[in-house]
Amino acid sequence: DNPQPRKPDWIRVKAPTSEGYKQTRDIMREHKLVTVCEEAGCPNAGECWSQGHATMMIMGEVCTRACTFCNIATGKPPEDLDAFEPGRVADAVAKLGLNHVVVTSVDRDDIADGGAEHFAQTIRAIRHRSPKTTIEVLTPDFIRCGPEAVEIVVEARPDVFNHNLETVPGLYPEVRPGARYFHSLRVLQRVKELDPTMFTKSGIMVGLGEDRQAVVQVMEDMRAADIDFLTIGQYLQPTPKHHAVDRFVHPDEFAAYEKAAYGKGFLMVSASPLTRSSYHAGDDFAKLRDA
Ligand code: SF4
Ligand code: SF4
Repeated sequence: DNPQPRKPDWIRVKAPTSEGYKQTRDIMREHKLVTVCEEAGCPNAGECWSQGHATMMIMGEVCTRACTFCNIATGKPPEDLDAFEPGRVADAVAKLGLNHVVVTSVDRDDIADGGAEHFAQTIRAIRHRSPKTTIEVLTPDFIRCGPEAVEIVVEARPDVFNHNLETVPGLYPEVRPGARYFHSLRVLQRVKELDPTMFTKSGIMVGLGEDRQAVVQVMEDMRAADIDFLTIGQYLQPTPKHHAVDRFVHPDEFAAYEKAAYGKGFLMVSASPLTRSSYHAGDDFAKLRDA
């Protein structure tokens, strides 16, 4: 048995109760959309949703991968892609009046292009309905597809192309079994090569068993791949069946990572216990754009 360390005070989560939260939930239900906020049991849902900020998950609720930190169902997705989904996402974004939207997906290794064209259609549909909304995609690694998959998504011109490395390379076999660290880095480097004006972003979780030196090495690797934005947050175990929490990283250690990352040239860094890939993504992006 592996007793879990107790949650420290700095991991405190408010129950979501606000009107904004309810309104976001209703609009998502009405449009038959799935949010990562709910599926992943994100601790920030109360705060984000009350501000009309959510991360939408496209391409279904069943993932063909089985990352040991992730609470999404694994298996063979029962359905083909829903051709009406890009329109529903665009409609929900317009109804919610979002300034910034994050669109992500499960991995669909069962589809030849990994869902790249579906991502592209979703970007175009949102752009058409809400031209002022900035769009961030958080994509799969497209590891079984040719290089065209990344090109298809880049051609649809999202404002931010995000793909998470999730953890240090030494923990990949255990934590992210279907993925390869250097392949994921290469996806982001390729985005920059295809369009140097597009912002690239990646993130990792800490508290999975990595050491500090490995975290710093990941930052170096990311900068070598020209990645612009970095997020680092505390891993929380969604259920007892998932990867165990190795430790709760102290806020001072997060602050040290943030400082080190800015020193390495990232344009924007968020490192804190409750940082998630999409936490405050819109505010940060607005700051950068207006700078
Ligand atoms: Fe949703 Fe991201 Fe906010 Fe979590 S941090 S509630 S996943 S938008
Ligand atoms: Fe979860 Fe993404 Fe891994 Fe699928 S690929 S199990 S959605 S983290």
